[in-house]
Amino acid sequence: MPIQKPKGTYDILPEKAFQRNFLEKKVREIFNTFNYSEIRTPAFEKTELFKRGIGEETDIVSKEMYTFKNDEFTLKPEMTAPVIRAYIEYNLGNESPLQKLFYICNMFRRERPQAGRFREFSQFGAESIGSSDPYADAEMIMLADTIIRGFGIKDSVIKINTIGGAEEREIFFKEFKNYLSAYLNELSPDSQRRFVINPLRILDSKNPRDREILNDAPVLYQFLNESTKKNFESILLILNENGIMFETDYMLVRGFDYYTSTTFEFLSDRLGAQNALLGGGRYDMLVQQLGGKPTPAIGFAAGIERILMIMEADNLLPVKNDFPKLFIASIGEESKKFSFKLLETLRKKGVKCETDFLGRSLKSQMKEANRINAEYVVVIGDEELKSNSVMLKKMSDGSEVKVTDTDNLENYLK
Ligand code: AMP
Repeated sequence: MPIQKPKGTYDILPEKAFQRNFLEKKVREIFNTFNYSEIRTPAFEKTELFKRGIGEETDIVSKEMYTFKNDEFTLKPEMTAPVIRAYIEYNLGNESPLQKLFYICNMFRRERPQAGRFREFSQFGAESIGSSDPYADAEMIMLADTIIRGFGIKDSVIKINTIGGAEEREIFFKEFKNYLSAYLNELSPDSQRRFVINPLRILDSKNPRDREILNDAPVLYQFLNESTKKNFESILLILNENGIMFETDYMLVRGFDYYTSTTFEFLSDRLGAQNALLGGGRYDMLVQQLGGKPTPAIGFAAGIERILMIMEADNLLPVKNDFPKLFIASIGEESKKFSFKLLETLRKKGVKCETDFLGRSLKSQMKEANRINAEYVVVIGDEELKSNSVMLKKMSDGSEVKVTDTDNLENYLK
């Protein structure tokens, strides 16, 4: 029996790899115009980083991490904690009071695989570390919006909320739990568990009875300080002034404990149950929590597979078209030797070319040139060997030009 890939993973075959490279190139260009620099970190980190960073009671840390070597290391389930770990480790705050970093990499979460949800998946994301200015929040949301719209995705909806700071949430939790305690037995098992360990996440429940109960629950926003609300309104105003369409959603919370105040998501109702394209928010306590100086920060992470799903459905992805410029066909051993040398010379000059490696007949070689969409073909036979000249044939119209010195081929191909 042949061996198959692990559940929840996927392979990226050449056609798809071409599309991913297109996406990544575009993402890099936009990050660059927003003056974000790339950061890369190891595929695994000390488990402690995620426990301290994401929070032990979150779904990710409590049940979805790939942990090994006696729990010492974990494949990264997200990038914010690793980026902040590096920020502190290399004193990046000293280098510049505002660090703007982006990443494109793979994440690992032992989730139940389904459409748009994998166990190894890729994200691109950004972290802006050092500013608490509402303009920094606005920049982050506008950066995400520029990328999503830059891909031609039109129907994504931006939802924004503020979840305040820990103290404000504590006051809310008292009222919230008080209200929920009357319905405790009716809540879903997940929400019952969260009631004890992470009540905020109950707001995220998709269970219909939970949602009914939540309808009349106290709303976190009402418990926030005036300064938090004012700050939130400033952000919304800046977004409005810059033509960004969004909806406020006081129920929007996220799966990580590190968020403070602003949270946002980009949603698409064409993604089914996994409807989030991208999520982010402010995390002003995380740097300190991981052992650095108190430093405000904000970021987002976007799911590449889900973006590709929408782009594919809307025909927004390019078809692989990086075809060879030239196919060199040969007849006989001597001409094969010559062809191989010519191939090497042209490749060194940067010309994408191919020849036969399967001992095929001339007819089959021509078929192959056609199959791989080579733009031109030359045939090397005895005559060509002797004269060092070739007929360069354009495949699209069959037209031919004589090239009297194979050293000149490159010029004809440009
Ligand atoms: P998160 O890091 O959970 O805030 O997720 C940010 C984005 O990454 C989501 O909006 C999704 O688009 C994507 N994402 C998260 N988890 C998965 C997964 N298991 N498979 C595919 N995409 C995911």
